[in-house]
Amino acid sequence: MADPKGFMTTPRQDWPRRPVEERVRDWNEVYVPGALLPVISEQADRCMDCGVPFCHEACPLGNLIPEWNDLVAREDWRAASDRLHATNNFPEFTGRLCPAPCEAGCVLAINQPAVTIKNVECAIADRAWAEGFVPPRPPDRLSGRTVAVIGSGPTGLAAAQQLTRAGHTVVVYEKDDRLGGLMRYGIPEFKMEKHHLDRRIEQMRAEGTKFRTSTAVGRDVTAAELRARHDAVVVATGATAWRELSVPGRELAGIHQAMEYLPLANRVREGDLEVSPLSAAGRHVVIVGGGDTGADCLGTAVREGAASVTQLDIYAQPGAERDDDAEPWPTYPKLYRLSAAHEEARDLGTAPVADADARLFAASTLRFTGDDGGRVRRLHLVEVDARRSPVAGTARALPADLVLLALGFSGPDQGDGLVEQLGLAMDPRGTIVRDRDFATNVPGVFAAGDAARGQSLIVWALAEGRAVAAAVDRRLTGSSRLPAPISPYDRPMSV
Ligand SMILES: Cc1cc2nc3c(=O)[nH]c(=O)nc-3n(C[C@H](O)[C@H](O)[C@H](O)COP(=O)(O)OP(=O)(O)OC[C@H]3O[C@@H](n4cnc5c(N)ncnc54)[C@H](O)[C@@H]3O)c2cc1C
Ligand code: SF4
Repeated sequence: MADPKGFMTTPRQDWPRRPVEERVRDWNEVYVPGALLPVISEQADRCMDCGVPFCHEACPLGNLIPEWNDLVAREDWRAASDRLHATNNFPEFTGRLCPAPCEAGCVLAINQPAVTIKNVECAIADRAWAEGFVPPRPPDRLSGRTVAVIGSGPTGLAAAQQLTRAGHTVVVYEKDDRLGGLMRYGIPEFKMEKHHLDRRIEQMRAEGTKFRTSTAVGRDVTAAELRARHDAVVVATGATAWRELSVPGRELAGIHQAMEYLPLANRVREGDLEVSPLSAAGRHVVIVGGGDTGADCLGTAVREGAASVTQLDIYAQPGAERDDDAEPWPTYPKLYRLSAAHEEARDLGTAPVADADARLFAASTLRFTGDDGGRVRRLHLVEVDARRSPVAGTARALPADLVLLALGFSGPDQGDGLVEQLGLAMDPRGTIVRDRDFATNVPGVFAAGDAARGQSLIVWALAEGRAVAAAVDRRLTGSSRLPAPISPYDRPMSV
């Protein structure tokens, strides 16, 4: 702690976002480039070095937060980078995309705004790349063992990097044409520019990890072939089986799943398409689902030039302050949060009928109606109470000629036949069953990430990837020095 009074003298200052009118005209990250570094050392110095850092416990990776806060306060960027990379393979991803449960657990947050931990993490990662502190780290010796990793999302990439560095020959099989999983085709560019992803993949190639894109295991290569070729297999295929909305009119044209819509917009950014076939330009868009995926649809529709955008959330509007009885510190509370996309929607007035920004809370969809051509034109909804019972007299309709369903995901997509070919045991939630060593019921086959945990977050995916790598290394060599930050049964801190 360079300044023991920093938390008393320095107010919290977040990485500023660019003006709304400017940023909705492009797809670049929403933050002001270069505005973080000049303030971040002072911000890191707000860390109290409290002695029992609950931020560690709240971060699934166990990031050594007070230690790198101190190093950043002293401007020792190389040591800060080493300390951060000791627990996190890809901190520039979490520094941009993590909802930062660590900040909810920050001791300072008991009665003051938390330390800007996520911003400090991002600044260290960006500075490390700028200064050349993160060269490829190929292994000194090869073990002679080979591992197949199925899926190149954050789980698969973290597992592959750890296992490659431990000396195993790792091949990542990815059914998409590009690597990165949901970070490539789900998450929009304005949340994380894809060059961050490409740079890490180059680092991994230079370390010796091999990648096979456009290869669906189960379809292009059978599970049996894969098991015959490799000493161990890690299934990290994500949870992309989407939830449906079974209401009258669902079959009308113009109603799509979020993950049908977002990848097309990302493909326009990648240069594969000139215009998205599902573009929101000129359309009245209604997004059903109040979560982050819905917010990503919102920001995308605004940038595509939608005529209006409304987001429906079935839950009542949460409060702005933590409810200390229901969700006490240091848990991650459900609060009214204004994401960049919501700020844009609010300032641009995209949804005149909304309760707040673009969101209509406690809103349940009853049905859709369309025109003679079979295209959706209106979404009919009703307000619901806490038990989701309709409130009398609140039914109404919104204009809607593009509806996006963002209702979450139930488990891995089984369309490729991988689960069946391997004979993997599934639990009633639709996710892959594994034991405490991440091993499935099939010898030599391990499961990690959203495919086994269920829909989660990038920070959990990275922790899963690191932990499954340790388990595989142990199985292949009898012991492992790789860190395992979580067990398969760990869950976010709660009461
Ligand atoms: C739209 C959206 C936005 C999100 N935003 C955030 C955010 O801002 N912050 C956050 O923390 N989390 C966010 N999440 C959640 C986060 O992206 C996931 O929790 C995380 O990506 C899970 O990582 P994973 O590696 O387990 O799976 P995925 O990222 O889903 O990767 C799985 C990969 O496996 C591949 N695959 C599947 N089957 C096969 C097969 N048979 N053969 C070969 N390859 C296969 C898939 O193509 C995919 O590339 C978001 C999710 C969505 C949908
Ligand atoms: S990964 Fe997420 S929880 Fe962990 S320190 Fe970074 S922002 Fe906090």
